[in-house]
Amino acid sequence: MKNFRLTEKEMNTLAERYPTPFLVASLDKVEENYQFMRRHLPRAGVYYAMKANPTPQVLQKLAALGSHFDVASAGEMEILHELGVGGEQMIYANPVKDRAGLKAAAAFGVHRFTFDDESEIDKMAAAVPGADVLVRIAVRNNKALVDLNTKFGAPVEEALGLLQKAQAAGLHAMGICFHVGSQSLSTAAYEEALLVARKLFDDAAEMGMKLTDLDIGGGFPVPAAEGLNVDLAAMMEAINKQIDRLFPDTAVWTEPGRYMCGTAVNLVTSVIGTKKRGAQPWYILDEGIYGCFSGIMYDHWTYPLHCFGKGKKTPATFGGPSCDGIDVLYRDFMTPELKIGDKVLVTEMGAYTSVSATRFNGFYLAPTIIFEDEPEYADRMQADDEQADKAAV
Ligand SMILES: *Cc1c(COP(=O)(O)O)cnc(C)c1O
Repeated sequence: MKNFRLTEKEMNTLAERYPTPFLVASLDKVEENYQFMRRHLPRAGVYYAMKANPTPQVLQKLAALGSHFDVASAGEMEILHELGVGGEQMIYANPVKDRAGLKAAAAFGVHRFTFDDESEIDKMAAAVPGADVLVRIAVRNNKALVDLNTKFGAPVEEALGLLQKAQAAGLHAMGICFHVGSQSLSTAAYEEALLVARKLFDDAAEMGMKLTDLDIGGGFPVPAAEGLNVDLAAMMEAINKQIDRLFPDTAVWTEPGRYMCGTAVNLVTSVIGTKKRGAQPWYILDEGIYGCFSGIMYDHWTYPLHCFGKGKKTPATFGGPSCDGIDVLYRDFMTPELKIGDKVLVTEMGAYTSVSATRFNGFYLAPTIIFEDEPEYADRMQADDEQADKAAV
């Protein structure tokens, strides 16, 4: 699968139409990612974790494809509600729910919840009596970029006791969930967690609790991230096989976030200033760490930067526009000489980027443009057709 990437020409013509900085999202790429997962991990229904990228057109595209959604707050539920997504297509997968979230869940008919502590049971029983609940267990994974098992997940030995207590409080004990951590490079972490879950399903049955649903969470990596060689198809197929073996009769779900949209968005940003500091040139861009590059801080991420031009490449430093010394994006990056007004392209900007951008220093948030709505998309389609015609001759 190729990541979505604008050509230099597309970037420049879009930049004549829209002032930089802006993001360009490809809905075709989102669809491709969704279908790829459905094909290689057919046993798992999809709850898209919308915190990764809640752009309305992305949500609409996924809803049209049949995706369900993982939500964590009243605000996320409201966005989906306005797009016509019903509560029955959502899982409230924030183990600790606030009052506004529970109220919204009740209002929109969200019926599926996760929790990882006893203190959550009375809250759910009061706000959404009879709700279907899955207990989140902590699992091990030292091969994830983002650890989600220190803050989240009940100890495995407490899981069934929690489900029993939920049942006693009038909730419906439905199943188990886990999250191996984000950008997980290991299939083993999923496989180990599946074995732990199987044992819990068996023990629950012995206790007279018939669990029906298993949620294996998110964590699937963005494949072509720099220096990363992961065979996503093989990873998904291995997990699917284990699900078939261990959970032949269970409804299984997954909650991909990063995977679904990480590769579907590009950022176009301009050089707005240059400086010479020591031997290296510095280039100041019109988007920075308080904007879409916030993932450098929050998500421990680096995004592939593409500079154009023909000159000899030398190492340079790139910074954002804010008046903070921390706003440095790339160091020792090899680039031809750039001048004010030149555009640069940043790929793999779809997950945990725009959503955590701020208006620090008063800079506006970069808007997201949908590639398929632009003439450059039609041009690409036409070029593809001409190529196909040529091949057919
Ligand atoms: C953030 C989150 C996800 C998505 O994680 P990715 O690593 O982006 O796939 C899924 N489930 C829950 C509960 C989350 O908090």
